[in-house]
Amino acid sequence: MITDDAVAAFREEFGAEPAGLWAAPGRLNLIGEHTDYNEGFVLPFALPQRTIAAVGPAPAGEWTVCSTSEDRAVAFGLTEPGQVTGWAAYVAGVVWSLHDAGHEVPGARIAIASEVPLGSGLSSSAALESSVLTALIDLGGLDVPLEKRPAIAQRAENVYVGAPTGILDQSASIRCQEGKALFLDCRSYEIDQIPFDLAAAGLAILVINSNAPHQHVDGEYGARRRTCEEAARLLGVPALRDITGDQLDDVLARLDDEVMRRRVRHVVTEDDRVLETVKLLHTGQVREIGPLLTASHVSMRDDFEITVPQVDIAVETALRAGAHGARMTGGGFGGCVLALIDTGAADAVTAAVEEAYAKEGFTPPTAWTVTAGPGATQL
Ligand code: ADP
Ligand code: MG
Repeated sequence: MITDDAVAAFREEFGAEPAGLWAAPGRLNLIGEHTDYNEGFVLPFALPQRTIAAVGPAPAGEWTVCSTSEDRAVAFGLTEPGQVTGWAAYVAGVVWSLHDAGHEVPGARIAIASEVPLGSGLSSSAALESSVLTALIDLGGLDVPLEKRPAIAQRAENVYVGAPTGILDQSASIRCQEGKALFLDCRSYEIDQIPFDLAAAGLAILVINSNAPHQHVDGEYGARRRTCEEAARLLGVPALRDITGDQLDDVLARLDDEVMRRRVRHVVTEDDRVLETVKLLHTGQVREIGPLLTASHVSMRDDFEITVPQVDIAVETALRAGAHGARMTGGGFGGCVLALIDTGAADAVTAAVEEAYAKEGFTPPTAWTVTAGPGATQL
C-alpha cells in the first residue's frame, strides 16, 4: 500500500509517527489538448493513482522532505525561487508560494510516496504540490479556500521550479471529484463538475503509457504556443478561444500560412469537441463520446502534429481491438494514450497493443484501467 510506504518512509527518516496523511491524485485529460494557453476548455479527471504526503510538525521556519523515489532528504528554511533545486524545489516552491500569498506556513517534516508515474504526463508534479499544499494548509489551520489553491500550487511550479505550465494540472489534482470530470474554462477559471460515471455505463478508461522517450518536448511546445499566439494577433482576437467553429472557414481563408491554418483548426475544433463531450456526459451518453476522442487524436496527429508513431499505433490498435474511442492525452511527443473500452475488454485491447509494439520493435507499453477518483484530501 502506498500509504504504508509513506508512513514507513516517515518513520525511517524522522524516527517518529506522522501527524497525518494527505493524498493528491495525478490526472488524465479526457479531451482538450493545447487549448489551455489559448484560453479555451479542458476536461481532466483525477486518477486513482495518488501521491501521499506523510507529514508531522517541525519548528517554525524549518522544512525537511524525503521521497521514496529519491535517496536523500532535503532540508530548507524560507527560500526564494531557485534556491532549492531538483525534485525538492516542488515542495520548497509550495512553501514559498503559500508564504508569498500571505500565510504563516507551519514548519513540517514530510515523507512522500507516489504511485503516479513520474514524467509520463499524468502530472506527478501537481500531485506532489497538491498533497504538500493541502497538508500544510490543514496542519497550520490556514484559511485558504479551495478555489484559491490551484493558483498557489501553479505559482510554485511556474515561478519557483520555473516550468511554464497552465493551471490544468493543479486544478485537476485539487478540485476533481470522484465520478466526475472537471470542466475548466481556462479564461475565467470557472469550473463545472461533469458526471462521468464510467462503471455505471459498463465502461472503463484504459490508460496506455507508450513509454516512448520524450524528445523535443519543450522546443515544440514553445513553437506551437508562439504560432497560436501569432495567429490570434493576425486575426485580431485576444486568443484562439474567441473563434467559434462556425467562423472557422472564414478565419482560415484569412491566413496565408498553411501550417498556421492547421494549428488554428486544431485549437478551434478541439474547443468544440470539449463542449460536445460535456453535452453528451450531461445526458449520460458516455459511450457516445468515443468518436470525439478519436477525432481529437486525428486532429493532434494531422493538424497540430504532436504525436509520435508509438501513440498513433496504440490508438489505431485499440480502436481495431474494439475501443469506442482513443486519443493521446497530454502535451504530446510520447506520453499516454487513453482508450474508452467496455469493462472487461482491457486484457484484449492491452494484448493487441503489446503485440503491435513488439512487431514494431518499440519498448513495451504499460496499460491499466482507471475510473474518475477524488481530488486532494486528508486521509
Ligand atoms: P509529470 O508531472 O508529467 O509527471 P513533470 O516533469 O512535470 O512530469 O514532473 C516530474 C517531476 O516532479 C520529477 O522529475 C520530480 O522532480 C518531481 N516529482 C514528482 N513526484 C515525485 C515524487 N513522488 N518524489 C520526488 N519527486 C517527484
Ligand atoms: Mg507535471
